[in-house]
Amino acid sequence: MAKILDKQRYKCAMSAMSTVQAIERAIPILHSGPGCAQKLSNSSGSSGFFSPNIFPCTSINEKDVVFGGEKKLRTTIDNALKVIDADLYVVLTGCTPEIVGDLVEDVVKEFSNAEKPVIFSSTPGFKGNNYKGHEWVVKSIVEQYLKPTDERIEGLVNIWADVPYQDEFWHGNIRELENILKQLGLIPNSIFGYKRGINNINKIPKAQFNLLVSPWVGLENVKLMEKKFGTPYLHYPTLPIGAFETSKFIRTVGEFAGVDKEKIESLIKEKEEYYYYYIERYADLFLETRVMSKKFTIAADAQYALGITKFLVNDLGLTPAKQFIVDDTPIEFREDIKSYFKDLNYNIEADVSFITDGYKIHKEIQEIDYHGYPLIIGSYWEKEVATKTNGHFLNVSWPVNERLVVNGYYVGYDGGLRLIEDIYSVVKTRFN
Ligand code: SF4
Repeated sequence: MAKILDKQRYKCAMSAMSTVQAIERAIPILHSGPGCAQKLSNSSGSSGFFSPNIFPCTSINEKDVVFGGEKKLRTTIDNALKVIDADLYVVLTGCTPEIVGDLVEDVVKEFSNAEKPVIFSSTPGFKGNNYKGHEWVVKSIVEQYLKPTDERIEGLVNIWADVPYQDEFWHGNIRELENILKQLGLIPNSIFGYKRGINNINKIPKAQFNLLVSPWVGLENVKLMEKKFGTPYLHYPTLPIGAFETSKFIRTVGEFAGVDKEKIESLIKEKEEYYYYYIERYADLFLETRVMSKKFTIAADAQYALGITKFLVNDLGLTPAKQFIVDDTPIEFREDIKSYFKDLNYNIEADVSFITDGYKIHKEIQEIDYHGYPLIIGSYWEKEVATKTNGHFLNVSWPVNERLVVNGYYVGYDGGLRLIEDIYSVVKTRFN
C-alpha cells in the first residue's frame, strides 16, 4: 500500500540544480517536464546571474514521451551554448526522460568539442533525494570533466561539506572551514559560492588531499577522487561547532596535513582563550536559566543532528533526549553514524533514530519527559510540536521558514557562539 510522507524534509534528486547553481557561472540544463523545475526552484537566495527562472529546460511533453526527447535536448543544449554565457553546463535529467529511456549521454557527447564544457548527471527523483543528487553532480564533474595530473600543490586542500541550499548555512559554513584551514597555513579549495567556480574546479586534481566534513554525503566522491587522481582523503564526520569539536577538528586536520604540532596547539590556545572569554561572561545566564530544560531534541539531517548534539553536550553540558535524523541516510552509513552519537563527553550517549515521517517524529517527541520546557532544534515543521510541548524552538534544518540566512554560519568557534546567541535569544523571550 502506498504511504504518505508527512512533512517533507528534502526534495528529489533533480533539486541538485541548486548544487550546480552554487557553482558560480555554472548552469543546469534541465531535461524534464516544466513542472519539475518550477517545483524545485523555491530555495531562499537563489536569484542572481543565473536564477531558476532562466534555467534552460526541454519542457518535455506527451509527444516527447512517445517519440523521445533527444532532439529537443540537442536543440536546448545548442541554444543554451549560444545565448547563455556560462563556464560549465550541466544537463540534469528528471523522471520522464529517464523512464522513456532517452540516450542523454550520447546527446551530451555530441558537444564534447563545444567551447565550454557540457556534462550530464542522471538525477530522476525516483532514484533518490537531493542529498544523493548533490553527490551525483560532483561525481559527474570528476568523471566527465576533470583529468588526472601529476602536478601537486603542497598544502592545497579540497573542502567538501554538506549540500548547498538544502543547508541554508552552506555558504557561511564553507567559508569558515576555509578560514580555519588558512589559519593552519593550508590553502583551502572549494568550488561553491562567491568567486570560486571553474578555476577552483580545475585545481581539484592537484590537491594534497580532500577534506570531507559530513557524516555521509560526499563519501563516495572523495573515494572516487582517490581512485582517479590518487588524492588521499580525510573524512571528518562531525560539523565542528564550538570549542570542543573545533579544537579536535584543527588537531585532526593539522596532523593529517603534516602541520607543525606547535603551530596547531598555539592556534587552538589562541582561539579557545577568545571563545571562553565570551562563555565566561555569559556563564551566569547559561547556568541560571532555569526556564529551559537541560534536555534537548534535534530533528535534522545527519550533519546538523550530529554537529549540534556534540556541541550541546560537550560545550554547553546539556543532555540529549532522543535525536531524529531525517535525510533518509543510506542504510550502509547508519551504524557508523549511530556510533558517533555514542562518542560524547562524560560517557553520555545519545539515542538516535533514522526517520523521515513528521507525524511519527512529533508523536515520539510528545511522549518524552523533558523535565521542563524542552529545547527543540529542527526544521520549520518542528515549530508545531514545540508549541504543543511549550518548548523553545530554533529552525536550523530545511525547510527554514522562520529566519533568513545570508552568510551566517555555525561552524567553528564563532559559529558556536552564534548558535548560543540563537538558542538563548529564544529562551530569553520566556522572561518577557
Ligand atoms: S520527482 Fe521526478 S517528476 Fe517529480 S520533480 Fe523530481 S524529477 Fe520531476
